[in-house]
Amino acid sequence: MQDQTPKWSLAIHGGAGSMRPDTMPEADRAPYLAGLEAALAAGTAVLAAGGSALDAVSAAVMVLEDDPHFNAGRGAVFTYHGTNELDAAIMDGATRKAGAVAGIGHTKNPVKLARAVMEHSPHVMLSGAGAEEFGREQGIEQVDPDWFATPERWRQLQELKARKLGWFDVDLKYGTVGAVARDAAGHLAAATSTGGLTGKRWGRIGDSPLIGAGTYADDRSCAVSATGAGEAFIRAGVAQEIGARIRLAGEDLQAAADAVLADARALGADSGGGDGGVIVVGADGRTAFAMTTPGMYRARADSDGLREVAIFGA
Ligand code: ASP
Repeated sequence: MQDQTPKWSLAIHGGAGSMRPDTMPEADRAPYLAGLEAALAAGTAVLAAGGSALDAVSAAVMVLEDDPHFNAGRGAVFTYHGTNELDAAIMDGATRKAGAVAGIGHTKNPVKLARAVMEHSPHVMLSGAGAEEFGREQGIEQVDPDWFATPERWRQLQELKARKLGWFDVDLKYGTVGAVARDAAGHLAAATSTGGLTGKRWGRIGDSPLIGAGTYADDRSCAVSATGAGEAFIRAGVAQEIGARIRLAGEDLQAAADAVLADARALGADSGGGDGGVIVVGADGRTAFAMTTPGMYRARADSDGLREVAIFGA
């Protein structure tokens, strides 16, 4: 924990899950660590140059969307049907303006489309074909759906089907990406992007694009991006609840995040799982990681020289 307010700070995640040092050899860790480093570099470059928290979270998330190791953009997991359906959201803590998209399959960087919804439409959330049409009108890069598909994600779907795994088996699930930041002007932002859960029913929408569940930012409290069992996270209103506890009850960042994740975990017990993690940045620029899974791909940095890249829990 830091004593002073850093000028800017950034935290990112690449999904929570069952990663443990004894089951994940070092060679397997390298591409994830490299992806996190690249995303951290993209986001901190924006902040160090005096850029906005919104631009920083967009830049960091786009790097992870393009990296096939993470479950967002390229490398998204498959629905049971064998399709990739992507969700994303972004929120500006200064204005509490937000943009989100759900169930899209042609936009290369879903977080870019979410931002366009926020900045160039009167709406907060667009889904499916309507969202894609808006993206084309906005001149946002479109790709063939094959762009998102990777052999490893296909293998995971086949394994899920063969082993008849439960929906929330953390061995195969999670990998959502997200970022939260505070810029030098003191403004916060959050962004999250995901392919959802392997084997999800087509049309299913998780917590990531839902403002207040998987993504939230409010300069008065904090910015949050979540990863985990989306259904439980929606029911617990994870991101908004963390902010409310900080703003209204004066709770510490870490205590608020831990309490809300415990709530989601308990709620999910009736429906196959409620585990996951969050990254949080407070109005004072301090950051926190919290998780109820063994691991979470994560990293953070700030203007005071804090720098951390990690996979496993404490
Ligand atoms: N929370 C995401 C969802 O339920 C999954 C994840 O975090 O990987 O769609």
